[in-house]
Amino acid sequence: MIKKVRQHINQNEPLLFENSSPGKRGYQLPPLDVPAVDAAKVLGAQNTRAEIEGFPEVSEVEAIRHFTRLSTQNYAIDLGLYPLGSCTMKYNPRVNEQVARIEGLAWAHPYHPESLTQGILAVMGELEKMLLEITGMDAVTLQPAAGAHGEFTGILLIRALLESRGNPRKKILIPDSAHGTNPATATMAGYSVENIKSNDRGMVDVESLARAVDDDVAALMITNPNTLGVFEQNITRIAEIMHAKGAMVYMDGANMNALVGIARPGDFGVDVMHLNLHKTFSTPHGGGGPGSGPVAVKRQLVPFLPKPRLRQIGGQWSWNYDLPQSIGRVRAFYGNIGMHVRALAYIMAHGGDGLRNATMDAVLNANYIRALIGDYYVLPHKAPTMHECVFSDERQAKLGVRTGDIAKRLIDYGFHPYTVSFPLIVQGAMMIEPTETESKAELDLFVDALISIAKEIEENPEMVLKAPHNTRTSRVDETTAARKPIVRWKPN
Ligand SMILES: *Cc1c(COP(=O)(O)O)cnc(C)c1O
Repeated sequence: MIKKVRQHINQNEPLLFENSSPGKRGYQLPPLDVPAVDAAKVLGAQNTRAEIEGFPEVSEVEAIRHFTRLSTQNYAIDLGLYPLGSCTMKYNPRVNEQVARIEGLAWAHPYHPESLTQGILAVMGELEKMLLEITGMDAVTLQPAAGAHGEFTGILLIRALLESRGNPRKKILIPDSAHGTNPATATMAGYSVENIKSNDRGMVDVESLARAVDDDVAALMITNPNTLGVFEQNITRIAEIMHAKGAMVYMDGANMNALVGIARPGDFGVDVMHLNLHKTFSTPHGGGGPGSGPVAVKRQLVPFLPKPRLRQIGGQWSWNYDLPQSIGRVRAFYGNIGMHVRALAYIMAHGGDGLRNATMDAVLNANYIRALIGDYYVLPHKAPTMHECVFSDERQAKLGVRTGDIAKRLIDYGFHPYTVSFPLIVQGAMMIEPTETESKAELDLFVDALISIAKEIEENPEMVLKAPHNTRTSRVDETTAARKPIVRWKPN
């Protein structure tokens, strides 16, 4: 029962190099009306380069068509539901884009004097204020360029605070449901990582945690709600345990889409956290950036925040560099400012009630999917679902079909796959996050697709094992692609 298969023009696109023919140009210039000079002589040989060997030569229309055709092979949130769990692929309202393109904001340059950039500084100041209201924290830096970058900044802040107290300590505790960036961050910041087990409800086991905290532990990095989409109900108790031993609580705020307007990390014991503006606050997302991962802290960590810090004196905004305890810059200039503009536009357009509604709709949508596919797929953790739900391929695996196969088959039904095989504590994980921006009609199509695939697996597993069938490229060898990538074109 394929209700809607979105197919594009059936045309495979060669590489631009393969389309090349010598002498073609994508531009035309008027005839030279000044004496010709040798560029290498005028600019110096070190500033000019020879022709690039094998550079593709195509006309303007060929270049345009090439990239436009490639763009039709992509999937995007603007085409349909993008249920990639943990990533919060919500729709980005176009008004954000319009605001970010306002000339004075889009063309502000970091070397402009403060007297000429009061507007953009006010935008950043206003965003800081709103993020503090949303998180319940005391101060925030907008510098970090992604969630992982925010984690790294946050752990450096914890290290700096503990060092100022005489001992940076050695270990960071991380629950086994955590995102891979958490242990990577801890390691990069010079800490060793100790795993904390989850219990069968999918929450941190408080007893194991209490046993693991000693004087060597600098912090716990916890995601809340965690990557199972489960709210850590013991979070206040967990924070008390950490604080009693002089350790900090870092919250990975990638899942704030389940909390905004409902609960504030600053109120449940968190000392440092990051936000992913490109997840929760509807700034463009994917393709490697740009992202934005502001880090919010409690009072005791404020002196260590990256510099410069934004301040307002007598109505004038300026940058404060005079911060002797700061960990320094974590990025050139002031962060991905275009993302700040979009996030502020999103927050202001929604207002407090609108943000809370968005959160409640995100949770409702995830629970709707959970309820409707619950008869077809195994849900290992039965605790209440927040903004995403994690199923297992357990039942389908018995027939030889795994989460990755089901994901490929979803492409035939016109959907981007869910997150495959993460979190690691769920065998054959199928992690689904619809976000609040999906209508009941779109969710129903998605649910129908998943139910239809579950039936196909019982009747004709080959259909799913060989998917996708409706794409221009069928299943690729992902292992070879990852291990032996061919990234340079060679004429054959
Ligand atoms: C997305 C995500 C991150 C990393 O954020 P980036 O912006 O991709 O660097 C960290 N933790 C969790 C739980 C996430 O979902």
